Amino acid sequence: MSYDTSNIFARILRGEIPNDTVAENAHALAFRDIRPQAPVHVLVIPKGAYVSYDDFAANASDDEIVGFHRLVAQVAQSEGLSLADGSQGFRAITNAGAHGVQEVPHFHMHLLGGRPLGRMLQ
Ligand code: IMP
Repeated sequence: MSYDTSNIFARILRGEIPNDTVAENAHALAFRDIRPQAPVHVLVIPKGAYVSYDDFAANASDDEIVGFHRLVAQVAQSEGLSLADGSQGFRAITNAGAHGVQEVPHFHMHLLGGRPLGRMLQ
């Protein structure tokens, strides 16, 4: 699947529409989900143009992959979700494609926490 440069997260990265930024580094941006599903619901996206997790994991540089995951960890800590700080934990998920019910075709990780999230898989 080719990257659609008009997707909403590409527009956020270009500064064309506002977002509620939580943190960023050279390779990734973290902002609050506009329809939060939990007290903490942050999306972490790479700044590069990757459609989905598999695209990112296969094609991003090592620096991009490390930078992305370091930002996930940084946000988990700053949002009070880090197990190292004694939190009750969190969920980090990414949806891919039609079966994954991916709405926005720019790879993103959902970081959810602040309440018991229930079992996902039976
Ligand atoms: P997906 O189903 O994994 O693609 O999730 C896309 C997420 O993006 C949903 O949770 C939406 O609420 C969220 N979203 C869509 N547009 C915006 C926006 O402009 N700002 C922040 N979050 C958004």
